[in-house]
Amino acid sequence: MTTQTSPHPTHRAFLIAGPSGVGKGTVVKELVKRKPDIWLSISATTRQPRPGEVDGESYYFVTDDEFQAMVDAGDMLEWAFIHRKNYYGTPRKPVEEALKQGKTALLEIDLAGARQVRKTMPDVYQIFLMPPSVEHLEERLHGRGTEDEEAIARRMVTAREEMAAQSEFDAVVLNDSVARATEEILHIMGEIV
Ligand code: 5GP
Repeated sequence: MTTQTSPHPTHRAFLIAGPSGVGKGTVVKELVKRKPDIWLSISATTRQPRPGEVDGESYYFVTDDEFQAMVDAGDMLEWAFIHRKNYYGTPRKPVEEALKQGKTALLEIDLAGARQVRKTMPDVYQIFLMPPSVEHLEERLHGRGTEDEEAIARRMVTAREEMAAQSEFDAVVLNDSVARATEEILHIMGEIV
């Protein structure tokens, strides 16, 4: 279910947004597994690593001061304060380098970040990953077991705000199954036809 289904081989920068718990991380992992030449941006964040998360792989885990210094130096392509708790941002240079090298770059960011990227990189192709339902999201967040009740409640507030903005995106992809959503996104990227 997309608003546009034709491939977009001319686009080289893509972003995926969507509410917390929709499965962006899983879909992104699957995309890179299917097409290892997709270059995935690694964000910087002030949030604490979850068990199993590795610095420099999942995120660059930084302090508030380090994050602020990157923002002040103009080193962030975009950044946001998310779930009213932590800073997240996309380091600019690696994205520019990847694009210069002709790679397909993929950013996985939140709505506020997507809105900023649209301004600085107007030809970025924006995909909104949609959950089958709000109830489904909440169940997934509980099932993940990585957030406490308060954090889940905060993420659900953000999720409702984000879902109201789906019409701003070039395509809306329903994450009814990881395999199907991945396939649809690869079509959109022109990686498979
Ligand atoms: P999590 O804490 O679950 O890893 O991520 C929380 C939210 O932050 C997700 O919605 C994710 O898409 C978003 N996010 C991750 N990295 C970035 C980033 O670099 N910039 C922005 N704006 N959002 C990000």
